[in-house]
Amino acid sequence: MSSARIVIVGAGAAGALVTVRLAEAATGAEVVLVDPCADAGRGVAYATGDPAHLLNTPAGRMSAHPADPDHFVGWASRHFGRIVGAGEFLPRGDFGMYLGEVLGGAIGVRRVRSRAVGVEARRLLLSDGSTMAFDAAVFAFGAYPLDSGWAPVAVRKHPRFVANPWAPGALSAVPEAGDVLLVGTGLTMADVAITLDRPGRTVHAVSRSGLLPRVHVPVASARQSLPAVLPADLDSLRRLYLQRLRAGRDWRAAVDGLRPVTAQLWQGLSTADRARFLREDLRHWEVRRHRMAPATAARLYRMRAAGRLRLYAGEVLDASADLRVVLSGGQRIAVGAVIGCTGTATDLSAVHDPLLRSMFDAGLARRGPCGLGLDTAADGRLLPTAAPLWTLGAMRKGNLWETTAFPEIREQATTVAAAVAEHVARAAVRESGPGCARVGVDG
Ligand SMILES: Cc1cc2nc3c(=O)[nH]c(=O)nc-3n(C[C@H](O)[C@H](O)[C@H](O)COP(=O)(O)OP(=O)(O)OC[C@H]3O[C@@H](n4cnc5c(N)ncnc54)[C@H](O)[C@@H]3O)c2cc1C
Repeated sequence: MSSARIVIVGAGAAGALVTVRLAEAATGAEVVLVDPCADAGRGVAYATGDPAHLLNTPAGRMSAHPADPDHFVGWASRHFGRIVGAGEFLPRGDFGMYLGEVLGGAIGVRRVRSRAVGVEARRLLLSDGSTMAFDAAVFAFGAYPLDSGWAPVAVRKHPRFVANPWAPGALSAVPEAGDVLLVGTGLTMADVAITLDRPGRTVHAVSRSGLLPRVHVPVASARQSLPAVLPADLDSLRRLYLQRLRAGRDWRAAVDGLRPVTAQLWQGLSTADRARFLREDLRHWEVRRHRMAPATAARLYRMRAAGRLRLYAGEVLDASADLRVVLSGGQRIAVGAVIGCTGTATDLSAVHDPLLRSMFDAGLARRGPCGLGLDTAADGRLLPTAAPLWTLGAMRKGNLWETTAFPEIREQATTVAAAVAEHVARAAVRESGPGCARVGVDG
């Protein structure tokens, strides 16, 4: 008997969770997970082999199963052979192994090691030239690395410029000895600085603000309760936020307490207020909301105290052929490599990915609010058409604002899987009867 086919593009955390939820839903459809990577479930964040790269979310919030919040803690306790606490920040590579195992337990899933390079309403084009028909597709391809247009040509064209430190093997271009310059001072910088830290080396890090992310505390403070009516403009929202900062014993409670309503607050703002938030409040919010694990922060503070980490507020202006880099503050630093730690591209107009281009060209997707990500309906379905295409994670930034952390992705995966399962079930009812044969991989 032929069955419907659901295709999931991308086998990172988001694709893995949707796949698992769909397998649990036992839709009767064939579930195909398309990704060129060897290790499904890890994606960019959890593929790291450096045990010093820690989750920036406590273990107790990282269960793959919403109905079993202790699932990851239990797995980790067995994995490490000791009782793991819900407040611990564990190595990301181990979490990747966990997700791989959870995905491996999903029944009836077919893996296709290929890259999707185009899409029509019901057909995916793969990099080997084949096509795959589908009844529903979920695009879980994560975020795109930021284009290195910020870097002066002398840096961008240099053989020891690493545009994306998360690309497999990218840091092997960095010489063993000598100082390095990291561009960006966020969470990626923190990881790369730790990986490259060694005696006799100074890690220089520059960003416009020069600010490090703030740090989690080992025991989270109680979240503050929310007002009955949420502010609907940026000035009122700022006032509420400041009141909360002053009211609590720990500012983290004020920030974390807004998390359940962040999407609602974001959606309530006018376009002008959202743009003003991005211009004026972004960095303040980012360094407090996306915090470092305590052990990561302690390591960076030690590096700083010992002079092995130096932070600068400014930009990279120029560089000589032997990588003497000039910063906008007037500093001149001789380094063996420059590494871009600038994060991900939220404005897709500058991204040249064939899959994305084909979506735009076919009118199957449009950019999200404020030009961020892709525009989606409440369940993650791509707008503007009613084609059976969904997305989740980073691509929903324009609609939801906070959408990249694992707990948010887990919630979205449940919603997307339910919507896809319902779509497939309805289609089966409509198409039941003769003449409804399905197509397989062809081309
Ligand atoms: C370095 C780093 C650390 C992080 N740490 C944490 C953390 O500690 N806690 C937390 O909550 N969140 C963390 N995050 C947030 C993180 O974004 C999410 O937790 C999650 O990993 C995102 O998964 P994803 O599947 O959406 O994207 P990705 O992990 O990027 O996976 C996307 C997958 O899609 C595949 N793909 C891309 N394009 C195609 C295509 N055209 N065809 C087929 N396959 C394709 C890629 O090969 C990849 O496997 C971190 C993010 C990063 C980058």
